[in-house]
Amino acid sequence: MLNLSPAQILEVWESGARRHPLDRALLLLHRMQPDMVLPDLADLSIGQRDQLLLTLRRQLFGRELPGYIDCPGCRTRLEFMLDTEAFRSTVNDHPVEVDGLCVRPPTSRDLASVMKESDPEQAAYRLAQRCCAAVAVESAHELPVLSTAQAAKIESILAEIDTAADSVLDFSCTHCHHTWQTPFDIGDYLWREIERYAGKLMHDIHMLALAYGWNEHDILELSDVRRAAYIDRVLA
Ligand SMILES: [Zn+2]
Repeated sequence: MLNLSPAQILEVWESGARRHPLDRALLLLHRMQPDMVLPDLADLSIGQRDQLLLTLRRQLFGRELPGYIDCPGCRTRLEFMLDTEAFRSTVNDHPVEVDGLCVRPPTSRDLASVMKESDPEQAAYRLAQRCCAAVAVESAHELPVLSTAQAAKIESILAEIDTAADSVLDFSCTHCHHTWQTPFDIGDYLWREIERYAGKLMHDIHMLALAYGWNEHDILELSDVRRAAYIDRVLA
């Protein structure tokens, strides 16, 4: 059971606050798997990464995932409760053979490498190039040149892998009966929780430092219960 202290959660939030979501997910996993260096974590497939993030979420905040969403039809706010275990799946990372080329699921490193490509078609081609290699490669010189037909085939396989890896939630509005689907991203969800928790800690530190003159370190050493009890008294 991973048990990050409030100070450690604040550190994770501070490290990732100005980073891209791909980097934030890796920072979180590095806390969970300190024996794995960031470059190794970047080479996990997105499916493997998300399964580890689900485990981390359960360890940090528990199994239940509360949330809400506004109905796109009538704007009614709907609350829901998800279960980390409902998103568990066996990740199949076996490469698929296409026209003699080996296609593997993309990793964080692959997605990061095409992130700054402004032309979506060029980004898709570059991703196809990277993912048809047998192993991750660093140098553009090692990437294979793909025919239009090969690139199209690989891109369609990557789209299938992406769809299979994506968690999609089905919603039905209790008010207007509108139905729709929304993708669920455990990395985004967990990061928003880290942000909320860090925001609450910063607020508490601010209030207690003003009221009692205590320093940040000492305030973070307090248990959540004791910190909340002091905040109640400050606000009374
Ligand atoms: Zn509605």
